[in-house]
This record gives sequence, structure tokens and C-alpha cells, in this order.
Amino acid sequence: MSANATYVIDPPPQPTLSVAGTDKRFPVRRIWCVGRNYLDHVRELGNDDREPPFFFAKPSDAVVEDGATIPYPMATSDLHFEVELVVALKAGGRNVKAANALGLVYGYAVGIDLTRRDQQNAMRKMERSWEAGKAFDQSAPCGALAPIETVGHPQKGRIALTCNGTTRQNGDLDQMVWKVPEIIEKLSELVELAPGDIIMTGTPAGVGATKAGDVLACSIENVGTLTVTIGKPAK
Ligand code: MN
Repeated sequence: MSANATYVIDPPPQPTLSVAGTDKRFPVRRIWCVGRNYLDHVRELGNDDREPPFFFAKPSDAVVEDGATIPYPMATSDLHFEVELVVALKAGGRNVKAANALGLVYGYAVGIDLTRRDQQNAMRKMERSWEAGKAFDQSAPCGALAPIETVGHPQKGRIALTCNGTTRQNGDLDQMVWKVPEIIEKLSELVELAPGDIIMTGTPAGVGATKAGDVLACSIENVGTLTVTIGKPAK
């Protein structure tokens, strides 16, 4: 396609994330998520401890900024929060080895894998894919990215979510079954990774339902914070 190509409709806007310490933005290409990556959460949902990691995706325009109010989504009456460490990539590749994987990382943030649990459970029961439960509008709130120059590669530290001031999730990054380098290795065996990809790395125990009016405040020690409000359903 030539550089001055024109479009038959207006091209959609590029989804982006804010970056701590700069006005420059991080462009989001793809959003990948890891299922069942903290043992206590694996067990709370009644799953097998030793299951290998698996991945699902959200659309890139599902990202939501810190401070936003997110209308309660359509097609659910059981919206769940899942606080997660988000990894943002500045480089990509196929069949990346874990030993080289951290060289791809731009930075880290705290995010929420919002989940329509009723839709997800219905799809699981029918052995269908999870998009209805996971890949919906505004399902990926994400705080400002902290570049590795300022935070390094966090391997431990408290990851927590409060709902209206009450702690609901309280884990530690060191409880992750599959660590960030292994996640990048495994994902790059499925798809070619590229700059702009972000990965939500799974949630600790304590996931639960949230309703209109709730304020969800998340934090990861030495990484950042994220606060969103669940609003009334969009008209
Ligand atoms: Mn999740």
C-alpha cells in the first residue's frame, strides 16, 4: 500500500496507552491474555494445577485509561474484575527463547481483565471459544506504562484490587505459575509477536462480581496504580 493511500471509510483511531513520565503514547497492536496463572485462582475456579498456560485475546480498542468510568457492559449480569500485571512489548519475534524474552519488553502496567463470567461459563460448558466472555468493549482497563528504565522487570511485589475501599484481591507477582519470560516464549510459539503487543499475565485469587457505582482501585508494588469506576449501562 502506498504511503499516500486513501481509505473508503475513515480509518479507526490507533488505540494507545499513556506512559509514566512522558506525554508520548504507547500504540497498542494486540492484547493477549494468559488464563489461570496464579495457583490460588486456578484452585478457586476448580481447575487443574498443572495445566500448561493458554492464551486468549481482546481487541486492541478494548483498552481504557486510568480514571475512566466504564459503562456496565451489555449482555451480562455477572461482570467480574481480575487485576493483572500487563507487559508491553517494544520488539517482537517468533519462537523467542525465555532467556531472550525480557529484551522485548518496553514496560509494565497494572490492568484489569474484565470478564463477563456468565458468558464465559456458558461458552465453556458448550466447549466454545471465550470471546463473548472476554473480548467485549472496554474490557481492558490499563494504567500508565512504567518503562523498564524506571521499574526494571518486577518478579515479586504485591498485586491488589480494592472494590469501594475493601480489599478483594491481594496476591504477589511471585505466585505466577508461568513467569513473564516463559509466557513470551510460549505465546511466540503460537503467533509472531510485534512491537505494540501487550500481554495480561493472569490474576490472583479473589475475583468477584462488580456492579454499577463500584470504584475499582488496583495497584502493583513498584509498577503503578489504576482506578476505574463502573457506571450505569450505556443507553
Ligand atoms: Mn484474566
